[in-house]
Amino acid sequence: MQQAGDEGMTEAKWHAIIHNDASYDFRFIYAVKTTGIFCRPSCKSKMPNKENVLIFQNAEQALSAGYRPCKRCKPTGERLPDQEWVSQITACIDRNYNGSLTLEALADMCHGSPYHLHRTFKRIKGMTPVEYIQQARMNKAIEYLTVTNKTVSDIALNVGMPNTPYFITLFKKKTGHTPADYRRIIRKKSEG
Ligand SMILES: [Zn+2]
Repeated sequence: MQQAGDEGMTEAKWHAIIHNDASYDFRFIYAVKTTGIFCRPSCKSKMPNKENVLIFQNAEQALSAGYRPCKRCKPTGERLPDQEWVSQITACIDRNYNGSLTLEALADMCHGSPYHLHRTFKRIKGMTPVEYIQQARMNKAIEYLTVTNKTVSDIALNVGMPNTPYFITLFKKKTGHTPADYRRIIRKKSEG
C-alpha cells in the first residue's frame, strides 16, 4: 500500500540503501514501516526488508507522515552541521592547545561567536570547550611527565600554560596529584 508522500522504490534507490551510498544523502530519505524510523541512504543501521521501506523526498515529508528521525544518521540534517562544526573545533583545539588558546580566540578561528560555540560544543561533546582545552593540556602534560625529564614549569609552558602555579593547581584538580608527585608515582611504578 502506498502512503502519502511515498515516492516509490527504484532499483537505484534500493542499491543506494543497501550500499549506504552517501552520495544519495539529501536526494531522498527512506522510512521503515516496521520501526517507524526514517534514515539517510548512507545510514549504517540494520538492513530493512525492502517491502517495509518507503521513499520520501525529504525529512519533512517523512516527519509529516508520522516517522521519527533515526538517532544514528540524523536525517533531518539539522544536527549534522553542528557535529561537523564541533569536530572542526576539536581539531582546532588539538592543533592549538599548546598556545594561548582562549574561547574568544577559538571562536575567532572557527567562525562563530564565543557564546554559540560554547553552547553548541557543550551540547554535542558533553563538556565545554574550555574543559576540552584543559583536558588536552593535561593529557599532554601527563605524557611529558611520563616520558621526559622536562621541569614542571617547562611542561606548563609547553602545554600552553605559562603560569606555572595555575598549571599545578589545575593539574592537581584534574588528577589528584601535583605534577611532581605524579611523576614520582609513575616512575616508582615503572621501576616495579
Ligand atoms: Zn539512520
